[in-house]
Amino acid sequence: MRTKIVAGNWKMNKNLEETEALLGELAAKLPDTNAEVIVAPTFVNLASAVNQLSHSVIQVAAQNMHFEENGAFTGEISADMLLNIDVDTVIIGHSERRSIFGENDELLAKKVKTALAKEMKVIFCFGEELEDRKSGDHFNVVESQLKNALFDLDASSWKQIVLAYEPVWAIGTGETASPEQAQEMHAFIRKTIAEAFNNSVADNVTILYGGSVKPNNAKEIFSKTDVDGGLIGGASLKCDDFMAIVKAI
Ligand code: 13P
Repeated sequence: MRTKIVAGNWKMNKNLEETEALLGELAAKLPDTNAEVIVAPTFVNLASAVNQLSHSVIQVAAQNMHFEENGAFTGEISADMLLNIDVDTVIIGHSERRSIFGENDELLAKKVKTALAKEMKVIFCFGEELEDRKSGDHFNVVESQLKNALFDLDASSWKQIVLAYEPVWAIGTGETASPEQAQEMHAFIRKTIAEAFNNSVADNVTILYGGSVKPNNAKEIFSKTDVDGGLIGGASLKCDDFMAIVKAI
């Protein structure tokens, strides 16, 4: 049985008071679920989020981190800094990091390696752009993103990895991949991993779908065999919407 996960990527939203208010509501309203529920507030509110959720099963993740241990890297945050405040899960490779902040596969591979060496859990994001899908190149793009960042890892490291397939054209656009498109790509991802590693790694890795998941489409997307949950942007900022998505799994 693969771990099911619903994770909320809050991106650059919510100040301290708003974070406290939403977390309070989420902790109070969280339904009974077998899924792991994760929230990723902005860096400056991570420590208080961990503190506030100390009696809740809701986990806290960071949205990014640097691969270097410490030193002269102005504006960056290290793995040890996250671990020191009890954050042991990190999102790496989000499409906004790739496209707006120029993070490439080589850099992301380094971040993944550092996170794994520090025994953190990695939510690794990837996905094709609209032109790739239009030109029929989406499978190749996804395969190369996975290969360049993850395929030289040991098979045993995959226990710490969660994949999040987020087609860029579906992020924040209101347009989702259809449940069939999501299933088709998730099955392709699992097959690619089975070929590069083995069936056990492929069968056990949790693969999330991200891109305009909302209360009204979550159930159908999550019903697909190879979709093990979601990475939620906009809808994770409203308690009722996020809880409805948790219930859908
Ligand atoms: P939306 O759910 O707002 O489309 O964002 C998805 C996402 O980028 C999650 O990381």
